[in-house]
Amino acid sequence: MAKYWWQCLSCGNRPAWLTVCHSRSIAAFIWDELAPSGWDQRLLRPKCKCRRNSLRITYRFRRGDPEKISINYIVGLGPDGDYLPMLWETFRHSRPRTPWIDFKYQKGRSPWGLTKRVVLEKVWLARLLRAYEHAAGVAIVTPPNAGLSGRTKARRTTLA
Ligand SMILES: [Zn+2]
Repeated sequence: MAKYWWQCLSCGNRPAWLTVCHSRSIAAFIWDELAPSGWDQRLLRPKCKCRRNSLRITYRFRRGDPEKISINYIVGLGPDGDYLPMLWETFRHSRPRTPWIDFKYQKGRSPWGLTKRVVLEKVWLARLLRAYEHAAGVAIVTPPNAGLSGRTKARRTTLA
């Protein structure tokens, strides 16, 4: 189980976990605070004592791994019963401009699934991607119709 902590990207401050949120673990934070908020992404960038909203949940892939990873966005579906599939956008501190997408799940407040392979109903994948696009304000999937009309437009232009 990875260890998660809050760390400021501006000043490096690492405040105690419970001084930043009300839940004892990341899984409890997601289950009891982030999901009920409607996945309010502002909860993932609280204010540091340096007055910047630069605190991020941070972790390592493996214990002892020198590379640190911070979380930009977390969106999830449901939950369906206690099964909560999620999409995380993260970045490695060595290449902060390169976002990574990480599919994860948890069961209730158990963090067990955070390190396991996620299995999704096909329609959930599209829903997760849409939730992510909404939260991050980016498009990662071109709607099929947009591509078609783009091609049609190009063809017309060529013919004209
Ligand atoms: Zn700070």
